[in-house]
Amino acid sequence: DRSPVTAIGLGLMGRALAATFLEAGHPTTVWNRTAGKADDLVARGAVVAPGPAEAVAAAELVVVCVTDNDVLHAVLDPVADQLRGRVVVNLSSGSSDQARANAAWAEKHGFDYLDGAIMAVPAGVGGPQAVFFHAGPEDVYRRHADALAVLGGGTTYLGADHGLAALYDVALLGVMYGLLSSFVQGAALLDTAGVKASEFLPWATAWVDTVKLFATDYAGQIDAGDRAYPANDATMEVNLGAIGHVLHESESQGVNAELPRFLHALMGRTVAGGHGAHSFASMFELFRGADRRA
Ligand code: NDP
Repeated sequence: DRSPVTAIGLGLMGRALAATFLEAGHPTTVWNRTAGKADDLVARGAVVAPGPAEAVAAAELVVVCVTDNDVLHAVLDPVADQLRGRVVVNLSSGSSDQARANAAWAEKHGFDYLDGAIMAVPAGVGGPQAVFFHAGPEDVYRRHADALAVLGGGTTYLGADHGLAALYDVALLGVMYGLLSSFVQGAALLDTAGVKASEFLPWATAWVDTVKLFATDYAGQIDAGDRAYPANDATMEVNLGAIGHVLHESESQGVNAELPRFLHALMGRTVAGGHGAHSFASMFELFRGADRRA
């Protein structure tokens, strides 16, 4: 006797979400602009609603996963008053400002709102590694936590600020693209000597483990908020020299050097700003500027 769920949006991700709710035994009602995308789900027991109004009437928990927030509003604005007393969990990607605006919109229409972010691909949904972030009122999350947890082993409540899921999403995407870009750049450097990317891979992944230790120290230094940034491992001056080697080697081997050149410029500004004897964590000053929250 699992609680009913409505899933709106049956794209690549939405279909995976609906299938996972069905698999877990939740009576699932679905709606999608293009009706044919529900066929496979119907075969597994889903009920297709003829429109968004019927879809939101079918369950208290309404999970939406569409292209973006403009689409969310295109679909739900016409039925906003029928959402009263329900909870919309928006798993469409968007900004923190949009998430907070959506929360105000929900409050105006008398329904609850959680903003989510999915750190998984459709094939990973329902698996132990799939991370689903949720942000919004804690009691609303707790009320639906069991149903939401079926989507992934890493389902996590972040806090009351509706903007948090979008912020964690982009912060983690930044880590991913930073790591992947530098991995591919490193593979290009080693390719100049005939080394295969697969030979580089184990060294790169082990090095990430080492870098995790640096980051652990830097997180504490940033959180201390005292701008001391003690150079427990290496000074910013030494780090600037090291990125200079990456830049020089890339240039002299004919490997695209834009990434190390950009990092060299950012790190050079931090040194010029008086942080030459500080740790890499002093780069926080450049990224955060003067706007740091108290
Ligand atoms: P798809 O392009 O596969 O699906 C888009 C969905 O939005 C479809 O259901 C589509 O309906 C619907 N849609 C688009 N425009 C409209 C409209 N004007 N009116 C009504 N419905 C509309 O995207 P995904 O499923 O891959 O992604 C959905 C969200 O999930 C995005 O925000 C994405 O960033 C996020 N996400 C996706 C991940 C992934 O790996 N795919 C990972 C993490 C997050 P129709 O079928 O009729 O076109």
